[in-house]
Amino acid sequence: MGRSVMVTGGNRGIGLAVATALAADGDRVAVTHRDTAPPDGLLGVHAEMTDAESIDAAFEKAETAHGPVEVLVVNAGITRDTLFLRMDEQDFTDVVDVNLQGAFRTVRRAVRGMVRARWGRIILISSMTYAYGAPGQVNYAAAKAGMLGMARSLAWELGPRNITVNVVAPGLIDTAMSRAITDRRRDHLLSITPLGRAGDTADVAAAVRYLAGESGRFVTGAVLPVSGGLGLGG
Ligand code: NDP
Repeated sequence: MGRSVMVTGGNRGIGLAVATALAADGDRVAVTHRDTAPPDGLLGVHAEMTDAESIDAAFEKAETAHGPVEVLVVNAGITRDTLFLRMDEQDFTDVVDVNLQGAFRTVRRAVRGMVRARWGRIILISSMTYAYGAPGQVNYAAAKAGMLGMARSLAWELGPRNITVNVVAPGLIDTAMSRAITDRRRDHLLSITPLGRAGDTADVAAAVRYLAGESGRFVTGAVLPVSGGLGLGG
């Protein structure tokens, strides 16, 4: 394949699995990271999702090494779970700033080169909470649902330029983020997951690989659940 790929939050968890899978296919992959060292074998570029200048600098570095970004995976995300009655405005703003506005900043920077090349693939990592919501996640579910509206509008605007924009919506995937939830919540999520288990980061990577690859060329504006059936029909 040999494309220039950018994965945000690619230093660990789902982002790392996506980056590793695409690199194994022969893509030239850059991953954003913050305080921790970048993973071995991948080009690490420092970026803070709440800061457009930092994102721009990361793209400059990646594009100098790999050429204009052709595949963008917006994966960096945070949760700040708390029940609505206790959620203050900062909890809401911070989660939207990283997950949704961070996606806006990153896509805005990436499309420059894609428009010039008249080719591109953009994949936003949302969450099945976009569909079924979750107690304690008013901020997160709002941000993740917002990513769908963003992707579908972008699909209209960028389709004529041969750029596809899709959403992957994971269910419960075994990472640091999901390990932070309570056992009670985890048991509940598994009880509403037809496959009855959490997924691996590799399951999400496989979906991204499909959408980013030649086989996904006629798919845009779609939401692909990778959830073991959690939230099916949503
Ligand atoms: P992790 O918590 O394991 O990793 C989160 C990644 O995002 C890290 O690389 C982290 O960087 C990065 N990140 C967070 N905040 C920022 C920021 N402000 N600027 C730059 N980078 C940032 O999460 P997962 O791998 O589990 O999640 C990846 C994506 O998948 C997220 O968008 C999440 O919402 C989504 N998802 C995950 C599910 C799950 O069950 N795990 C389910 C549904 C969706 P750093 O290492 O520096 O903190």
